[in-house]
Amino acid sequence: MITMKFGGTSVGDIQRLQEVGSIVRSNLFHNPVVVASAMGGVTNTLLETAQFAVRRDTARVGNNIEALKKKHFAIVDALVRQPERKKEVIEGHSQNFEELSNLFHGVSLLRELSIRSLDAIASFGEILSCVQIAAILTDCGIPAEFVDSRTLVRTDARFGEAAVDFSFTNERIRERLMPLVEKKTVPVVTGFIGSTEDGLTTTLGRSGSDYTGSIVGAALGSEEIWIWTDVDGVMTADPRYVKGAVVLPQISYREAAEMSYFGAKVIHPKTMLPAIESGIPIRIKNTFNPSHPGTLIASVSNSVERIVKNVTSIDGLGLVAVEGNGMVGVPGVSARIFTALARVQVNVMMISQASSEHNVCVVIPQQDCARAVKELRAEFEIDIARRTIDDIKLQEPMSIVAVVGEGMKGLRGIAGRTFSAVAKAGVNIVAIAQGSSELNISLLVEQADARKAVAAIHDLVVCH
Ligand code: ADP
Ligand code: ASP
Ligand code: MG
Repeated sequence: MITMKFGGTSVGDIQRLQEVGSIVRSNLFHNPVVVASAMGGVTNTLLETAQFAVRRDTARVGNNIEALKKKHFAIVDALVRQPERKKEVIEGHSQNFEELSNLFHGVSLLRELSIRSLDAIASFGEILSCVQIAAILTDCGIPAEFVDSRTLVRTDARFGEAAVDFSFTNERIRERLMPLVEKKTVPVVTGFIGSTEDGLTTTLGRSGSDYTGSIVGAALGSEEIWIWTDVDGVMTADPRYVKGAVVLPQISYREAAEMSYFGAKVIHPKTMLPAIESGIPIRIKNTFNPSHPGTLIASVSNSVERIVKNVTSIDGLGLVAVEGNGMVGVPGVSARIFTALARVQVNVMMISQASSEHNVCVVIPQQDCARAVKELRAEFEIDIARRTIDDIKLQEPMSIVAVVGEGMKGLRGIAGRTFSAVAKAGVNIVAIAQGSSELNISLLVEQADARKAVAAIHDLVVCH
């Protein structure tokens, strides 16, 4: 059995969906289970429309709903030919659009838009997409059935990025999908969405369909999990910004997780977790070029071919520094910093402290900076008044540039080559961090310099 997840671009237009049909058909002997995203751009449009609704911009809400209807109905019109089935899908879509319009109306009336409402609104993207995919497959002679993952994936109530209750979820997935697979019906499962015990709709975080793909694949004990996307595989850098980026034939789970955490958008960072536990390989493949072998993500990396696998960057960050001569040798300062940040729910992405202990730097998302600085100023109010701590300093916008590769472990010179590549590009490094796992070297630079640094590292260290 193979679990196949199709991303937004892969289900985004008539031609792509025909390709999905032929990919599923040619893999029928694998007993495929399909997980799919919303059509490309739809989730963004839904979230944007919610913002228009809360501002009571009814004209824009109306325009967006019309555009979404047009997009989906055009697909049904072109690809679902059997009249009864077409009628059924059109009725289903119309009902979903009516519900969606009601939600926007509710948001407008209340002038209130919670993350919980955003999840309910966003869920329509995957529902509409998967309903039509199941119909399209059935229409071309491949028995398929739409499965709403909210009946399978049980989560907590952390809307926007809910955590999965695996014991419940795995059981439900097996119960619901195995019988379909056994009777040779392809399940078409919505990615990205789940529900709480009370039946409230949640999402697994942006790009979360990859995660659903591996949750389903692992629960079913699939032989492999295939993530179909719009590039040939995981590449040495983001191909949109680095022209010479090349495909990596094989990387490890840890490398993939590290890269995606630091901005390689091609796969969601949590995707690797269920696969690691059950030892199932993940393959990244291109719907535009299905015969390409893609990238295999498994327990071992292929370090012979390339030591440093990839350079990524993540923008939109702020550097918060706590500085002062009075901090030197005083126990507990770091503990107070992290406790204060945890109190206001700020996630720390990178930490750096030089051994002089004169300065502790934390890198956090820009949207959390104001909250973090306020809390830290309150925490260190007395120390600041006594001048043992100078002040809490903030620098933004910043980017983390990360170099990833398991082969770097124990190998001298990679850090040196990385720093000199960045220096050659004329970019100033603001802070550095390397974990003792030596899987990753992270550099903090000003956001305006990030692309230059990535390109230089790519050319001089990754693909030299
Ligand atoms: P999907 O809709 O299929 O989930 P995404 O847009 O989420 O697709 O992810 C695929 C995109 O990720 C590619 O088109 C590419 O621009 C981007 N990307 C960023 N970093 C990398 C990388 N290191 N390797 C491959 N693609 C990358
Ligand atoms: N449709 C969702 C998003 O755009 C989930 C996904 O595509 O993986 O974030
Ligand atoms: Mg994606």
